[in-house]
Amino acid sequence: MYTILDCYTDEPSGLGVPPYIGTYPRYLAGALSILGKEIAYITIDDLRYPKKSKLKTDIATYNKTNQDIRKIISNTKKLIVVAGIHTSGKYLSAIPATLKEIIRIIKPFKFRKILTGPAASVYGSGIHGGKFSEKVDLSVFDEINENYLGINDYNKIRRYSIEGAFIVKNNPRYPNCIVEIETSRGCPRKVGCSFCTESLRKFEKRNINDIINEVKALSDQGIKYFRLGKQSDFFARNKNEIEKLLRSIKEDVSPDVLHIDNINPSSVTENKVKIVTKYCTPGNVAALGVESFDKNVIEQNNLNSDPDITMNVIEIINKFGSIRGDNGMPLFLPGINILFGLKGETKETHKINMRYLKEILNRKLLLRRINIRQVVLYPYTKLYETTKTKFLRKNRKYYWKWRNEIRHSIDLPMLKNLCPKGTILRNVLTEIHNGNTTFCRQIGTYPLIIGIKEKLPLNQFINIEVTDHMLRSLVGRKI
Ligand code: SF4
Repeated sequence: MYTILDCYTDEPSGLGVPPYIGTYPRYLAGALSILGKEIAYITIDDLRYPKKSKLKTDIATYNKTNQDIRKIISNTKKLIVVAGIHTSGKYLSAIPATLKEIIRIIKPFKFRKILTGPAASVYGSGIHGGKFSEKVDLSVFDEINENYLGINDYNKIRRYSIEGAFIVKNNPRYPNCIVEIETSRGCPRKVGCSFCTESLRKFEKRNINDIINEVKALSDQGIKYFRLGKQSDFFARNKNEIEKLLRSIKEDVSPDVLHIDNINPSSVTENKVKIVTKYCTPGNVAALGVESFDKNVIEQNNLNSDPDITMNVIEIINKFGSIRGDNGMPLFLPGINILFGLKGETKETHKINMRYLKEILNRKLLLRRINIRQVVLYPYTKLYETTKTKFLRKNRKYYWKWRNEIRHSIDLPMLKNLCPKGTILRNVLTEIHNGNTTFCRQIGTYPLIIGIKEKLPLNQFINIEVTDHMLRSLVGRKI
């Protein structure tokens, strides 16, 4: 038996942390199934020890597949480990495994072990912001291959993605899971941002018919939630291609959720935004990157947008996307990142960021989210090769204060504009307990977290009314 061990993946383009099912386990299942192999799919949660707490959901073991794991392990001839974090994030109901944890767990097993996914690349894996990627001894693996069985080859993926669609039924979150769909790889910019691993890969677009066929195959397996999120710039195609892709998915599959992810601000046009609002479902977000509004930092790190372009794009997306949809959320909003530790960062950088963020707020434009992170240093990136942690070390003492200021002065009032008290949000899934509070989210791209002061049954869809605001999440009551 060939066992796929999903340790979850998060890359600049591509998410595979529950409730997302990433592309790699699906492609691998397809490849192995074509080879006629017997396949098992398990998650890292299946191999972890549960913490015994009645008060708090144990998110380290929340995504168990509930199979006979002992039997699977004793029948396994080859273990294929899918892992790798290339953007660190916070996860409500899952914990991606570090390489250190994976090695500790699988070391005693005698079968052949293969490492694939982003962690098998030359950039390694790193979950903690403000640090280098993990330095570990990988000798426990018999093979380390990012492109194992050709899972990075679009000619092979054409068939793999369809043959492997069945594996979604083994996912612990099925059918309340969202699948990440790949539309391209690499970054279309010739020279990418200083910190990013994506630009070091060759840019390649996936054939539109292949994408549509994969979505249909997944829909045939009962999947209702889709994100076209595995790409660095969804708008890297022309408007006719974008329209063909989204219209076909809507007409052929009519998904409950159809969202996208990354967009380079420089590729945004009014027509493309209108197409997205026409065919996708509400609650959609254009993750614009941005990273900094400081022109000096932008130049030194070759970032993807200058402040004038960014402000214009935020306005265009708001113009068409801020209308509220039937799930209670606006149709389509921008999201930005602020990244600490970039080359050239000074105290002035934070002041400039605050000036632009206040302007967005004062102009009553909406941002769905501001991700604030410390950069992770991955080998071969420009930042790694030049200043490394110099600016992180210099400015780390300010980061808590800078982050706090953005959270209090921008995020909180923005959230109040986005979802005022009394807003009704529909199809919210209850996910975890913490004490007597239930935390829940809609299924989609960057859904808002809602805390309800009541212990509700988990994995149920409810409607809620917003009753209050935390810094980045909502307080609600079940209606
Ligand atoms: S625009 Fe920058 S951050 Fe985005 S994929 Fe390209 S290099 Fe990476």
